[in-house]
Amino acid sequence: MHFPNFMQILDGIALSKTIKEEVKQVVATYTDKGKRPPHLAAILVGDNGASKTYINSKIKSCGECGFESSLFTFDASIGEAELLQKIDELNKDPKLDGFIVQLPLPKHINENNIIQAISPEKDVDGFTPINFGRMALGLPCYIPATPFGILQILERYKISTSGKHAVVIGRSNIVGKPISILLGLNQPSGNCTVTLVHSKTIHIEHYIQQADIIICALGIPHFLKSEMVKEGAVVIDVGITRVDDATLPKGYRIAGDADFENIKNKCSAITPVPGGVGPMTVAMLIKNTLLAYQRNYGDH
Ligand code: NAP
Repeated sequence: MHFPNFMQILDGIALSKTIKEEVKQVVATYTDKGKRPPHLAAILVGDNGASKTYINSKIKSCGECGFESSLFTFDASIGEAELLQKIDELNKDPKLDGFIVQLPLPKHINENNIIQAISPEKDVDGFTPINFGRMALGLPCYIPATPFGILQILERYKISTSGKHAVVIGRSNIVGKPISILLGLNQPSGNCTVTLVHSKTIHIEHYIQQADIIICALGIPHFLKSEMVKEGAVVIDVGITRVDDATLPKGYRIAGDADFENIKNKCSAITPVPGGVGPMTVAMLIKNTLLAYQRNYGDH
């Protein structure tokens, strides 16, 4: 049995800063030549506190990287037709390289209709069927920001994936499903043997215990227990759940899907929550917007 000599914290804050600094330097090479900077827009519907936090952090990162940003906010009562009209407007705006619609949307709006209306060229979240299909085929695309962030963590921390057994917990369209496909592709940070487990999986621990790499993306605080983790496994914790905590000024704390304290000395590497995958998601959205600028604005 292999026991790790040391456990590595996969620091998403530090890595996201590095990536944003790289992007900023590339942007400066364009603006120094008199070109306009990349421009990301975001649509925010309703009053969801977590969504507002995410949007603020995305807009702040745009500023840090020398991007222009625009935020369009709408009351939760907005109709689907009006939202589709706004998307059509943003699709046609030549000064905009990419835009995102912050999810979740109010229940009366069909998220699929909204996502499918986004032009694939401006879909820097990588959620449209065209981008998802291209991603699955290993073609140039916008990789969804959270899976892209996970790949970057694995790559930049030099975690070898080839031939490893990766177990992905959760099959959402934005995290579980795409990362399970990406890890199985014949490309860098791929070539894993992938098992995708979900709420209907019987004896889920049986699969998780065999994993060399565990990606937890289910949204159940501390679901992943120490006894489910093989000695030396790598744990990527995507979960972000607000848990009531009256001792904190905000009244809540952020919890991941992994029982970090009990797992940290058993695994070889782990992402903390907060400070792991979350900041990487923002950095990779910024990176995708730079790619969109380079592809759509003609500077390669
Ligand atoms: P989601 O749409 O909330 O779906 C949850 C997934 O987990 C589903 O596939 C569900 O299975 C599965 N699941 C639920 N209970 C389970 C159980 N007991 N055992 C096994 N699987 C179970 O997923 P998501 O949008 O990917 O979000 C997951 C978590 O990641 C949330 O905490 C979210 O806030 C967080 N998140 C973080 C980031 C980031 O940047 N760090 C980005 C996105 C999401 P079924 O399909 O069978 O229902």
